[in-house]
Amino acid sequence: MSNCVLSVVLDAPLDTTFDYRWLAQSPHEPVPLPGQLVLVPFGRRRLVGMVVGAKETSDIQPDKLRAAIQVRAQLPPLNQQWLALCLFAAEYYQRPLGEVALPCLPKGMRTESTVALDRALKKLTSSDRNAEATDRPAAPQLNAEQQQAVASIISAVGYQAHLLFGVTGSGKTEVYLHATERLLQREHEAGNPAQVLILVPEINLTPQLESSVKARFPALHVVSLHSQLAEGERLRHWLSAHAGQADIVLGTRLAVLASLPNLKMIIIDEEHDASYKQQEGLRYSARDLAVWRAHQLQIPVVLGSATPSAESWLHGASGRYQSLRLTQRAAAYAQLPSVRLIDTEVNKASDGFSKPMLDALRTRLEHGEQSLLFLNRRGYAPVMQCEACGWISNCRRCTAFMVLHKPERRLRCHHCSLELRIPAACPTCGNVDVQPLGRGTQRVEEYLQQSFPSARVLRIDADSTRRKGSAQAAFEAVHRGEVDILLGTQMVAKGHDFQRLTLVGVINPDTALFSQDYRAGERLFAQLMQVAGRAGRAAQTHSGAARAEVLIQTRYPSHPLYRSLLAHDYPGFANTLLAERRAAHLPPYAFQALLRAESKTLTLALAFLAQARDLMAHPGISMNDPVPMTVTKVAGIERAQLLLESSSRSQLQSFLKPWMQALRAIKTRVSWTLEVDPIDI
Ligand code: ADP
Ligand code: ZN
Ligand code: ZN
Repeated sequence: MSNCVLSVVLDAPLDTTFDYRWLAQSPHEPVPLPGQLVLVPFGRRRLVGMVVGAKETSDIQPDKLRAAIQVRAQLPPLNQQWLALCLFAAEYYQRPLGEVALPCLPKGMRTESTVALDRALKKLTSSDRNAEATDRPAAPQLNAEQQQAVASIISAVGYQAHLLFGVTGSGKTEVYLHATERLLQREHEAGNPAQVLILVPEINLTPQLESSVKARFPALHVVSLHSQLAEGERLRHWLSAHAGQADIVLGTRLAVLASLPNLKMIIIDEEHDASYKQQEGLRYSARDLAVWRAHQLQIPVVLGSATPSAESWLHGASGRYQSLRLTQRAAAYAQLPSVRLIDTEVNKASDGFSKPMLDALRTRLEHGEQSLLFLNRRGYAPVMQCEACGWISNCRRCTAFMVLHKPERRLRCHHCSLELRIPAACPTCGNVDVQPLGRGTQRVEEYLQQSFPSARVLRIDADSTRRKGSAQAAFEAVHRGEVDILLGTQMVAKGHDFQRLTLVGVINPDTALFSQDYRAGERLFAQLMQVAGRAGRAAQTHSGAARAEVLIQTRYPSHPLYRSLLAHDYPGFANTLLAERRAAHLPPYAFQALLRAESKTLTLALAFLAQARDLMAHPGISMNDPVPMTVTKVAGIERAQLLLESSSRSQLQSFLKPWMQALRAIKTRVSWTLEVDPIDI
């Protein structure tokens, strides 16, 4: 079969393969294999597609059948397992295979020109290992719980998911590193090539982990994969994983779809983190795909967290995942910080701060220790208001307020990015006294600078770190001790090991207690636990270790969530949570899919969803009524949604496939998307 027809998938919204004629250039040229990339004509464009099969003939008329332009023979084909992963993701998340398989390749592999690809491949062959580091840092001696965890992970045969539940600072990272080392060593001794994939939730955490992994394994090839790498670098790293050269791949969620021909273990740090969920395009959960991938390859997967997701907690309890526990902080003398609630009914806050919080800050400043203040709201104030006539700063394009950004002298909509100058007077009544209402990080920063003029205050949020590399630089300044009070959004909560930090203050967490989103409590607990975990990580050498404390200002100090937090009792919280979810038929006891519709008018969007709901019989699936989304309008587009639920995942899956086909056949101007296992509803 030297001439044949190739079945090719393309990054196109059509759920089909495309046929192309292929002619061998020479009698010895092999037929392209599945997983090979090929440049083909598509309409008037040329696209890079992926071969999924070859056949003798096509159903397309011979004169309509176009020829493939060029096979990317310089690139080893993506293997069967990788194709199977993409196929699974495509079917599970109800997307065409081409829309899954191609977008997850770096751009340089998908362009018509192969210049970047050839250059990257050339660099790859001459590629360096880690520089011969002589000062390999000594790994700490593992404590008994850590040893036990590593032994369990290493001794598992075939597929096994391990839920590593360890309080912040309990040394989960050490468990990952030791398990990685032991596993790679064992495979190398047996003569097997081996790769380990380590997933982290935040791009900001990759440099820190990357440098400690590289330092620990100077002889190994370690690469990172995330969306902030320069194109050329991402391409090189991806190819190095694909060629089996990289021994350890560190990455954010997109790395779960990397080609790793010798993958022998997957580690997911902070497995509960919402950023493992992709919120556009293929709306996948990297955690769920990682577990599927481990199962497919019959390898271990480790899910680590101080506050596991409800889903994983349930699997841990049922024995589906093996539970591993780290109950204490690992470093000698590092203690879990004491958590204290400040009742703002008793200690009224002015300008956002109660007296005990201010006193605690002052003590840290006197002792030269660092404090971290957590406020998950950026900007100066979430809204502006005229008290004379009641005008408020609504965005004219969205169902949302325009947020005051004082340093930038702008009102900004966080949904559609509309920007306006701060009005000098009320747009409706002319009153010149338009006031900011509520407070965000910028306002707190201003207040701190006024109240503690000699303190070095640093704000870290999405606004202060827009420039590439600026977040990294800011965190380094904190590590070097150049900051007294660090203030920020969730960006400061995760992962960082600040040695001089002895106070964590949480300014206003209460709003999440009464959110409509059933996951809000779970998220708040995780967030508070994580930010609290930044305190008291210092070892014995540090005089302030004993003073480590977490202060939370709240009007509801007796709320069960805060009671569990005080007791560092995640299991208690999680078990209550699961009981509530079970009673309410919510995930993880139910499986959901969400159909979203967007249109110029809400009526059209709702009508489309009603039509979708009535399209076909749906035994075993409960369909809710179509409703407007909470933020109904964004940038002038109205949005509505239809929620589907089932107590059986497979029942939901077998309904979705034919339903999607029927939906695609509807002629409509409404644009819609389907999300399986939504986390924001
Ligand atoms: P986690 O990821 O669970 O929050 P880390 O792995 O970051 O915790 O560990 C917290 C600190 O404890 C780090 O500074 C780490 O070097 C240290 N550490 C970890 N394991 C040990 C150990 N067995 N003995 C001493 N120190 C340890
Ligand atoms: Zn007014
Ligand atoms: Zn807007």
